[in-house]
Amino acid sequence: MQKTFFAFAVGLLCVLAADPALAGRCRNTGSFETWLARFKSDALAQGISPQVLAAAAPDLVFDPAVIRRDQGQAVFQQTFLQFSDRMVGGHRIPNGLQKMKQHAALFARIEQAYGVPAPVLTAFWGLESDFGANFGHYRILRALATLAYDCRRPDFFRQQLLDALRIIERGDQRVEDMVGDWAGEFGGMQFTASDYLKYAVDFDGDGRRDLIGSIPDTLASAANFLVNLGWRRGEPWLQEVRVPANLPWEEADLNIQHPVSQWERWGVSAAYGTLPRGDLPASLILPMGRLGPAFLAYPNFKAFLGWNSAMVYSTTVAYFATRLAGAPAVNHAGAELVHPLSTQQMIELQTLLNRHGFSVGEADGKLGSATREAVKKAQIKVGLPADSYPTAELVERLRQSRFRSD
Ligand code: CA
Repeated sequence: MQKTFFAFAVGLLCVLAADPALAGRCRNTGSFETWLARFKSDALAQGISPQVLAAAAPDLVFDPAVIRRDQGQAVFQQTFLQFSDRMVGGHRIPNGLQKMKQHAALFARIEQAYGVPAPVLTAFWGLESDFGANFGHYRILRALATLAYDCRRPDFFRQQLLDALRIIERGDQRVEDMVGDWAGEFGGMQFTASDYLKYAVDFDGDGRRDLIGSIPDTLASAANFLVNLGWRRGEPWLQEVRVPANLPWEEADLNIQHPVSQWERWGVSAAYGTLPRGDLPASLILPMGRLGPAFLAYPNFKAFLGWNSAMVYSTTVAYFATRLAGAPAVNHAGAELVHPLSTQQMIELQTLLNRHGFSVGEADGKLGSATREAVKKAQIKVGLPADSYPTAELVERLRQSRFRSD
């Protein structure tokens, strides 16, 4: 879960200037040196050898640049098409197809062993590190030591730091090779240290699990991770569909599954190819509401969400994988009619939803799952199509509405 958020925020979103509200959130009371002395004795007690701690020592330092990145991260709200056009456009598809061809024999062996096909692994490889071309520029131990000391999320990053040292202890990596992003993810699949420790495999048989220098290890480890997230061999993951204007929109919800045959009875049809056998469960997802692109998400989509819980990112990786598997470009026609709310409008909407009893939690301007759920309830209440996608019309209706939900 944590991996996911950081991978999304760090690698793929725009970073804005530091937000003073975040900067003031917590305060460290002790010095870094005091913290480090205690951490080292804990690490020794947990089986990290003095040799590894000595090798790591030059990197166990506080780096203010990491804190600035951490406090400065802010998120532009992007629609699915804005994000996916940017991520999957340009050279990504031709490069991905070329990688699949270049490593065809390896991909075949991995699919035989894990059941995860080449387009899915290639899509993650492309979005996480541009197929191994961009691992990030931060020294991992330094980033993790800094964030483990910092007061914001010390427990999570302390565990990551211990697991990074365990990776060195095992002989999988050397301190000097561990370079990645500022939040401590590294290698071709930008694994956290803890996911690396748990899910990395040695697929080239040299005795090391090397997700930096070995393409076989990198790709097979991603497959192993996906299997652990629930991947089912031989099943599709995502498919673009066409939807009728009179669909019961409230059924379009990631938390609701129906057999493919039920979707067909409601008039949902394949945008290309054919739909899978009738009893496979599927959710209808409408990333930009009922006028935008529509997809059936099959049980394997859960593995994408497990890798990264940010819906726009997960849907984009899954869509990229369909493109590498031969699907045509997603339909952009209806999206011209979609007018995404600005951050300010979104905050007003969330405030109104909260006031009307459709709780979204903090009005943060982000379209997360809680906001979508509240939007759906409000749409049902005011009689708009309940596709969970916020519109200016809904904001207007809520402004004028006096009702309160019980
Ligand atoms: Ca290896």
